[in-house]
Amino acid sequence: MTKDYVLGLDIGGTNVRMGLVDRSYKAHCVEVVSSRAMSGSGNTIKALTDSIRDYLKRNAGDKEIIAVSAGFPSVIDRDRKKIFSSTNLTGIDGVDVPNEFFKALNIKTVIEHDAYYLLLYDMISNKIETEGAVMGIYFGTGLGNAMYINGRPYIGKHGTACELGHLAVPGGTRKCSCGNTGCIEMYSCGKALERIAEEKYPETELSDIFLMHADDAEMDSFVDHMAIAVSAELNIMDPDCMFIGGGLVNMKGFPKEKLLSYVYEHTRKPYPADDLNIKFSDNFPEKGIIGAAMAVFN
Ligand SMILES: [Zn+2]
Repeated sequence: MTKDYVLGLDIGGTNVRMGLVDRSYKAHCVEVVSSRAMSGSGNTIKALTDSIRDYLKRNAGDKEIIAVSAGFPSVIDRDRKKIFSSTNLTGIDGVDVPNEFFKALNIKTVIEHDAYYLLLYDMISNKIETEGAVMGIYFGTGLGNAMYINGRPYIGKHGTACELGHLAVPGGTRKCSCGNTGCIEMYSCGKALERIAEEKYPETELSDIFLMHADDAEMDSFVDHMAIAVSAELNIMDPDCMFIGGGLVNMKGFPKEKLLSYVYEHTRKPYPADDLNIKFSDNFPEKGIIGAAMAVFN
């Protein structure tokens, strides 16, 4: 058995998760550190690379680390080097991350928009054919979206494809963290759910909100906004397969059947509506780390 490992990083607005992934896609020595503290340190990249160096000191042992692979919650340039914009993590916009990581750690580094790593994990673990279009929509704090066409990530002319979360809702007035107004992310993701919980259900634990109130008009509209985002992409791309995942759809009592029926309602008949291949993907802490490593091993 080879001793090759990839250090997979799943960088979120709240936490950074890291782990050493082997060629059988098993994650070892998984640790979580606060990215919020790094973000507030004044030098995010240094805080990040210091933390990685400490991690490797503790955990690398005699393992051969062939690369660092990091998923960022960010819009990234076409060369997958420079971060254009990160709404939940400060101090990294404009930074050439692979270059800075290599200077600090002396290990080859690749970076990607985190949703592409989640989708890669879903594709490989579900043995999805590489021919045709496969997409992933991940509802979490924000709306993560990624697409593979004929086995290759489709990232667009500037690297900024798959920003489905910023589809404008007609008449929408809520300010989005991207700077625009009325983005569907502000009506269908974690931030919107928190707002609804605060305003409408102050007595309910956020984690129970679907369990207790899934059929209320407010929650119904929330799920419908999720469906509008999903069906927009189905109508444009007519994909071979679509994954729907993220923390939100894996919450207790989340109405998956209702979401699917609203998706069907908004999708063009007869096709793609009558032959949709939608798979719900599960959510577990190491998914982003393993997906990141898969990108290197493949
Ligand atoms: Zn936006």
